[in-house]
Amino acid sequence: MAVAIDKSNCVGCGECVQQCPLDALKIEDTKAVVDEGTCAECGACIDACSEKAITL
Ligand code: SF4
Ligand code: SF4
Repeated sequence: MAVAIDKSNCVGCGECVQQCPLDALKIEDTKAVVDEGTCAECGACIDACSEKAITL
């Protein structure tokens, strides 16, 4: 399991990437993408996203 990223809301700011303790997020083609095998569903990136683009 992993967070879901709504690409239509993501503005590619990279805040979530900075906050992920497991390095499970990266920016690809100006949108955040999650490595589903790495994400531990800690929720840190959800709070970091001002666009509310990340959900569990
Ligand atoms: S914090 Fe939100 S808007 Fe910014 S890159 Fe991550 S998902 Fe996209
Ligand atoms: S929920 Fe936690 S582990 Fe998963 S991508 Fe977000 S910050 Fe990283």
